[in-house]
Amino acid sequence: MTFDEAYELEEWQICRQAIVERDKSTCRACHTVTTSPHVHHGYYLKGAMPWEYPYDTLFTLCETCHRAETYRICMLKEAIGKLEPREDGLFIRLLSRFVDALCDMQQQDKTSMIIALEDVEP
Ligand SMILES: [Zn+2]
Repeated sequence: MTFDEAYELEEWQICRQAIVERDKSTCRACHTVTTSPHVHHGYYLKGAMPWEYPYDTLFTLCETCHRAETYRICMLKEAIGKLEPREDGLFIRLLSRFVDALCDMQQQDKTSMIIALEDVEP
């Protein structure tokens, strides 16, 4: 089954509808109600079906924001790919900690990011 074929299956339609209903057909980026909602995957795992992701990693977006977000993620992956690999994985650990801190920021306050970054050991 191709990835495109998976999006035709009922499992995806049920998942997609649940996300759009949760978000009240409102784009999570620009906060406008959209008549043609896209459900954006925050990430992909090799071999996973589109509906096999935690719902908190799926977001309703309008077409414009979906295109922009997909482009930004592509650019981010490209930038990460330019990092010289290190045996200790320092850069990836730093980025991972930064992303965790951003997620915390969304739920708490901005000081959590500073605290989290200070905890990273080289
Ligand atoms: Zn939008």
